[in-house]
Amino acid sequence: MDFSFSEQQVAVRDTVRRLCREHQHLVGPAEENESLPREVFARWGELGLLGVRYPESDGGSGLDKVSDCIVREELSYMSQGFASSWSAHSHLGIWPIWKAGTDEQRRRFFRPAVQGRKIAGFALSEPDGGSNIRALKTRAQRCDGGWKLNGSKLYITNAPIADFLLLAARTAPELRGEAISLFIVELPARGLVVDKLRKEGIRASETGLLHIEDVFVPDDCVLGERLGTYPVILESLSENRVGVAANALGMARAAFDAASAYAQTRLVAGRRIGDYQAIGHKLAEMSAQIEAARWLVYYGAWRVDQNTLDAATAARVKLVASETAVAVSEQAIRIHGGAGIMREYPVGRIHRDALVYVIGEGTSEIQKNIIMRELGFKP
Ligand SMILES: Cc1cc2nc3c(=O)[nH]c(=O)nc-3n(C[C@H](O)[C@H](O)[C@H](O)COP(=O)(O)OP(=O)(O)OC[C@H]3O[C@@H](n4cnc5c(N)ncnc54)[C@H](O)[C@@H]3O)c2cc1C
Repeated sequence: MDFSFSEQQVAVRDTVRRLCREHQHLVGPAEENESLPREVFARWGELGLLGVRYPESDGGSGLDKVSDCIVREELSYMSQGFASSWSAHSHLGIWPIWKAGTDEQRRRFFRPAVQGRKIAGFALSEPDGGSNIRALKTRAQRCDGGWKLNGSKLYITNAPIADFLLLAARTAPELRGEAISLFIVELPARGLVVDKLRKEGIRASETGLLHIEDVFVPDDCVLGERLGTYPVILESLSENRVGVAANALGMARAAFDAASAYAQTRLVAGRRIGDYQAIGHKLAEMSAQIEAARWLVYYGAWRVDQNTLDAATAARVKLVASETAVAVSEQAIRIHGGAGIMREYPVGRIHRDALVYVIGEGTSEIQKNIIMRELGFKP
């Protein structure tokens, strides 16, 4: 592996940094209103940032997973709320369509999504099945010309603003636990009600609870049919774990930079607080943790690009990076003293946002279970 980004990857990073400067003024209002402006998706689409890691022949930008992680790191440095909506859209909501959909599904849903003309989301988690996917209860039953869906989905990113959701439902419970397929549900849909949820973290990203009652999905909007798309779902989640680790890296960096800047200027008893060894050591440790997470994240991205990513590696990458973001942002608050609790400083928001990522995309405990299994133990 090369020790530096390629010229193209540096160009991607610079483009996203410029875009983040352009969008910075939107972050405060989006957090306050708990709402992400739709135009943001259009701008991402215009710059080719929604299809970074997809081939040009399919409408993407034709870059690699490393570039995708660079985009995530930079967006998260600005706002994890924005980056979460980006991730739910440009990976979870459309990757399975790109991977396992028909040409027609790619034309109708994937392409407009990478252009920022349609907003996507991914609805897997349920009130009784977050960590335990196999407990999924939402049921799809055959009907004339398609399927009828019944059930509920909880904590679905982008659901209040989405044009379509990729919704997981059980097709043949008598067959086996993994008979879960993905249904492309266009919104608004008769029988589907979305309640917007209010959150402590990633407030700019909109999240919904779905009530699903006899929602009709035509045959041409199904991925997987009766036997399901469970392997595609698992592969998508694994790859996205590397992606959200890059998000966590961006948050950790943002918290560190804020703390380091504060430690340079805040004087106590005539000394910069960074010169007190207790504070300087915190910053030293935080920088080492971030460096370790950075190597792991880009190693994981490289493994995706080599087509060699396995579930346990993805779990290690996600576990380390997300726990780093929580630890670093907590220390950043401590370094700020009382200011760390005030809204005018970013570190409190970053810590709330970071906590979402030791839960979402599989909790840290679930990542450890995946790693345990690889080590030959039975969680
Ligand atoms: C802001 C936000 C956005 C989200 N966006 C989406 C989305 O877009 N789409 C989507 O499908 N989902 C989404 N989720 C759901 C997320 O993936 C789940 O919240 C997560 O998987 C945990 O599930 P749960 O909340 O049901 O917790 P539970 O499964 O109830 O877990 C509760 C606790 O028990 C622990 N636990 C559970 N099982 C085990 C076990 N076997 N061994 C050890 N410990 C265990 C967990 O680690 C956790 O600490 C989102 C969640 C949040 C908070």
